Amino acid sequence: MNLITHFVKNTIRRPLHPPDLRRTARLIERWFSRHQRPLPWRVAYDPYHVWVSEVMLQQTRMEVVLPYFARFLERFPNLGSLAAATDDEVTTAWSGLGYYRRAKMLRAGAASVMETFDGTIPSTVDELLTIPGIGRYTAGAIASVAFEQRAPIVDGNVARVLARLFALESDAWPLAEELVRASKSPRAFNQGLMELGALVCKPRNPACLVCPVHDACVARATGRIDELPPPKPKKATRELRIPLYLVRDRRGRVLMRRASGTLMDSMYHLPHGDTSLFEGEPFATTTRQLLGTFRHTVTTRRIEFVVYAATISRRARGYEWIADIDEVPHPSYVRKALKLER
Ligand code: SF4
Repeated sequence: MNLITHFVKNTIRRPLHPPDLRRTARLIERWFSRHQRPLPWRVAYDPYHVWVSEVMLQQTRMEVVLPYFARFLERFPNLGSLAAATDDEVTTAWSGLGYYRRAKMLRAGAASVMETFDGTIPSTVDELLTIPGIGRYTAGAIASVAFEQRAPIVDGNVARVLARLFALESDAWPLAEELVRASKSPRAFNQGLMELGALVCKPRNPACLVCPVHDACVARATGRIDELPPPKPKKATRELRIPLYLVRDRRGRVLMRRASGTLMDSMYHLPHGDTSLFEGEPFATTTRQLLGTFRHTVTTRRIEFVVYAATISRRARGYEWIADIDEVPHPSYVRKALKLER
């Protein structure tokens, strides 16, 4: 290595000190004020809107959440309307978003706020943690984003930014806490960290040149961006191939059955070749015509659905004719299968 290369590698790009917490927080807050995406819950920072958005965004991408968020708030415009709804009404509005337990817990949480906090969402992490379905992350998000409390949050985006910025290989929560304490606006800082991870410090090919903290970033200076954060061990996946049957009656209604097991609890499903969801007799078709196939992933299961238009000689026990699938809670694969009829 010649002298110039050595100087560039070890002096110019290498920060002499770990990033200063106050300065880092300010830079991220300022960047957020200029580059934040206009999102519906950022209009008024209504605690109910923030809560719903945070629950929807767990395990679901932003572009998928946005139309659901708008429809959900039309259907349940405030905490009281959500608390007064049934689980079925809430999971129906949630149909297609997946991870339906989130919807039920959100409803249970709303009911608990009505009962315990007189309908007002509390502002502190300790109080928020007493609400069913609210854990450390959601409590921190509501407290900081809706109420400007100095509460830390760590999601996948935040963990990645902090791991790279500080070359951190351990739990990111203590550092997230120190940083939010050093911030001017916990709302701007926490959202800025998340937004930075979503838009700039992406898992692959981070846009370091436009990053507001690039001059302090240890991973960038030491060439360790690809190593940080350390990869998590991958969960084993299962490949499945499942036949799926679209059966309609003369009125165009679709044959469905409500699952009673824990998998996709209480949702309406199309009859399919894997009867493990249902108890009792297997489903039998009399005629069937292939409509197509599609792939679908549920947690660690990678499923190829093979979809048939089918007729049956008699209705199997426990099935119902459904006129409008929007009226019943159903998983997102149902809509994908119905699209193949067109
Ligand atoms: Fe991430 Fe690059 Fe910014 Fe470091 S400089 S925090 S790696 S985007």
